[in-house]
Amino acid sequence: MMDVRTPEARSTTTDAERSAPDPLVRHDWTREEAKAFYEAPFNDLLYRAHCIHRAFFDPNTVQMSRLLSIKTGGCAEDCGYCSQSAHHASGLKASKLMAVERVVDEAKRARDAGATRYCMGAAWRSPKARDMDVLCGMVEGVKALGMETCMTLGMLGDEEVARLKAAGLDYYNHNIDTSERYYSEVITTRTFAERIDTLARVREAGIKVCAGGIVGMGEEPEDRVDMLVALANLPQHPESVPINMLIAIPGTPLAEAAPIDPIEFVRTIALARILMPKSHVRLSAGRTEMNESTQALCFFAGANSIFVGETLLTADNPDESSDAALFTKLGLKPLESEPRSGEQEDAQDA
Ligand code: SF4
Repeated sequence: MMDVRTPEARSTTTDAERSAPDPLVRHDWTREEAKAFYEAPFNDLLYRAHCIHRAFFDPNTVQMSRLLSIKTGGCAEDCGYCSQSAHHASGLKASKLMAVERVVDEAKRARDAGATRYCMGAAWRSPKARDMDVLCGMVEGVKALGMETCMTLGMLGDEEVARLKAAGLDYYNHNIDTSERYYSEVITTRTFAERIDTLARVREAGIKVCAGGIVGMGEEPEDRVDMLVALANLPQHPESVPINMLIAIPGTPLAEAAPIDPIEFVRTIALARILMPKSHVRLSAGRTEMNESTQALCFFAGANSIFVGETLLTADNPDESSDAALFTKLGLKPLESEPRSGEQEDAQDA
């Protein structure tokens, strides 16, 4: 029987009850269990996902993140979906790593507009030693504004992880992209196992983890299930799980990929919520391709985080006035301070 009490009701539990591992937070999901949820009648899937969502979060609050590309294009990796790969003819102009001052100025503007977390992304296979001082300067500068910091820089070794941690980095984003089975269809310059290695390194250093993937890349539904099972069976669930819908970009190998059915996308969000009850499930890239009804279903199914701002690295994102209008229609409100941390509790469960 699911414990689907509201967060308020859960807060009345005794200390003994609170310290017991939550049976809904598991790290031993089987593909069969997850597939059964994913394939259930839509109303049954959504009902289950929404009950779990409501048990762990305020269902009408959505966390907002802002993302800045601190180094665009010219990437050595060949991710089939990405306009920033040097392997693809997307026409994107590569730029150098931004200066610390510029990043801090941008972060300050984001903070003054209400953002509490700032995500900085660089198009790299992995950062070079000569860039580490600048990257750490960015983390320190953004932290000094009173904001949380997140970076995505590609694969990291122990030394880079230690330096970023010492600079105060709060979150590291590193998506696993898709299932292990489908991985080489999308990316050939690295392996699924290398992604998992970096995630383990980051987690071990005490940096919070943001890890999700992309759907609509021609994968089978089983690949979506396997990707989410892989994330949910990590020793600790990622604090944030971004689920991206492919934006098919001309010049990339996935330019002609058939769009995913919106109902399949909502099923993916619902499964993420069920398998990782305390994580923030982020409705990430691809929102410009979704109508309001699809986004509303995603929020009902357990999505509780979005990126705001008109661009996501190099892709379009809904403008803030359309997000505000949708929030008003749905009675949603932005999360203003840090979450009642499902995140901290998940750390305890682990
Ligand atoms: S997704 Fe990241 S790692 Fe892959 S090509 Fe784009 S910038 Fe490089």
